[in-house]
Amino acid sequence: MKKKLGIGVDIGGTNTDFGLVDAEGNIVRRGRLKMAGYDDVAVYVKDLAEALLAALGELDAEAEGIGIGAPNGNFHTSCIEHAPNLKFKGIIPLSEMIRQYINVPVMLSNDANAAAYGELIYGGAKGMKDIIMFTLGTGVGSGVIVDGKLVHGFTGCAGELGHAILVPEGRLCTCGRRGCLEEYASARGICQTFDELRRWVTCYTGKLANIPLRGLDTKLIADAAYAGDEVALKAFERTGFLLGIAAANAVAATSPEAVFLMGGPVQAGKILMEPLEKSFHEHLYVSFKGKTQIRVSELNANDVAILGAAALVKMPR
Ligand SMILES: [Zn+2]
Repeated sequence: MKKKLGIGVDIGGTNTDFGLVDAEGNIVRRGRLKMAGYDDVAVYVKDLAEALLAALGELDAEAEGIGIGAPNGNFHTSCIEHAPNLKFKGIIPLSEMIRQYINVPVMLSNDANAAAYGELIYGGAKGMKDIIMFTLGTGVGSGVIVDGKLVHGFTGCAGELGHAILVPEGRLCTCGRRGCLEEYASARGICQTFDELRRWVTCYTGKLANIPLRGLDTKLIADAAYAGDEVALKAFERTGFLLGIAAANAVAATSPEAVFLMGGPVQAGKILMEPLEKSFHEHLYVSFKGKTQIRVSELNANDVAILGAAALVKMPR
């Protein structure tokens, strides 16, 4: 009998990455399609399916199922719906299109939901039933798991905690409203916080004094903070403080066992995590105090998108 492997597909604006994943969560084969070559979704799906079938053939394996993490992926409809970063416009019935080539269950969700489910199946949340995941990157995504199940909600779009308003009348968000968490806790938001703080310090002469906002990234700011730049340190403290409030607020809705965080800014380590934990525990409602952990994802940053997508295959159907 052929061995069964899960398939995880991560669709992004630049690349589609896929991986074949064994039962222990090891990615045993990887592949990539460059999105620039595809204007026609039908051609894209055909090439993707052929690449998956070729990889399965080489490993003499068959697919247990295919999980897909995609921007604006709607779990209920299994369609990509109006994704701003993809060339494929409108509503794309992706799962159905793939099943015409590979007739196995195909599950589709957005990338943050997939990351949360990946943590549950393969990462630090193994054995837990209730978690919330925040993914910090270009934006802020989140996935909510209750009683072992991803929460999709009435619309299929639940878990948009990055667009929960944290600062009334605050920074203008890409979504058109003001004060969303994303504008403060994304990589972009952290850079902006640093930029604001250095303007307020009249004689800021740190290493980053001459780097314009668009030249900053969270790694530069973190390195400066570790080298003793107090303004850089303050930027992470402020981020941790706000993110701690956002996480504590989220806990009030579903009472998770742990809140997980992942993504580039989290690599900053203790300069973010210490103020975050302090703020989180300070702002938790009494019923949850001392009972809710805050944790960093245990999945490898290079693997999480594929593992998260592959984990969707393990969802109870
Ligand atoms: Zn927003």
